[in-house]
Amino acid sequence: MIDQHTHTKYSPDADQKTTFLDYVNQAKSLGFSGVMVTDHVDYDSPDPLFQNIIDYRVYFNEVNQVRQKTGLDVRVGVELGYQKGSISKMKDLVSTYPFDFVIMSLHVIDGEDPYYGTYFQGKTQEDSIRRYFEVVLESVKNFDDYDVYGHLDHIIRYGAFEHRRYDLETYGELIDAILKTIISKGKGIEINMSGLDDITLQTYPSMDVLKRYRTLGGKIITIGSDAHTYLDLGRYFNEAKKILLEAGFDEIAIFSKRKPSFIKLNEVLK
Ligand SMILES: [Zn+2]
Ligand SMILES: [Zn+2]
Repeated sequence: MIDQHTHTKYSPDADQKTTFLDYVNQAKSLGFSGVMVTDHVDYDSPDPLFQNIIDYRVYFNEVNQVRQKTGLDVRVGVELGYQKGSISKMKDLVSTYPFDFVIMSLHVIDGEDPYYGTYFQGKTQEDSIRRYFEVVLESVKNFDDYDVYGHLDHIIRYGAFEHRRYDLETYGELIDAILKTIISKGKGIEINMSGLDDITLQTYPSMDVLKRYRTLGGKIITIGSDAHTYLDLGRYFNEAKKILLEAGFDEIAIFSKRKPSFIKLNEVLK
C-alpha cells in the first residue's frame, strides 16, 4: 500500500517541519510499502504563499538521498493546480521532470481561491458549486498531462453555508460530462480521505459520485489521505476500502512512472 496524496514542508500550507524522511518512517510504521509525495504547484495562484514554485532539481536530489539512506520506495508526484492561463507552464513542468504521478486539482476558479470566501460573494450555493464543476469540466477538456483528478467535489467544504451536501441530480449533466471525459481520456480520480477530518465528514468525491463514476465505466481510482503532516499518512484507509467496495470497486491503482498498476483492495487493506 502507498498513500498517493501527501504534502511535505515544500507545500506552503503543510506542516513546515514535515520532511520526506518523516513520511518514510511513518510509512514503515504503518506497514506501507512506500510513499508518494505530491506537493503543490499552483501556477499564477492569487495566494502569495503559493507563488513560490518548488525547485525540482533540489527536490529530486533530496528524495534520492532519502531513497539511498532508507531503501524505501519513495515516489515523486505533484498536485498540479489548474488555471486556463497556466496550461503551458503546467505542461512544461510535467514534461521536464520524471514524476511518477500527477494529480490535477482545481484550487482557483475565475482567479479566486474559495478558501478565502470572496469566490462566494454574489453567488448562491448552487451558483458557486455549478461554476466550480463548469471549470472542472473545462480543465479535463483542456489538459491531459495528469493521471487522476484530485478531491473532485471539495468545493462543498468552503463558503458560509449551512448544508454541506449537494444533490447529484442538480449537477447531473455536468458531473456526467466530467466523468465521461476523464474516463474516455484514460484518466482516473482519487478518493480523498481528508474530508472525514473536515467540516463535511465525507470523502471527496462523495459516495454518489464514486458510484456514478463506476457505473459509467470508471476503473482508475487511487486512495489519498491529503496529509499535510506525516501524522496523517494513511488516514482512514480502511474506511476507504469499505466505501470503495460499496461503490463497486474491488481494486485500486498505484502509480509509478505515470503508469497505473492495479491491486485488489482485499489484499492490501483490512
Ligand atoms: Zn488540493
Ligand atoms: Zn493536496
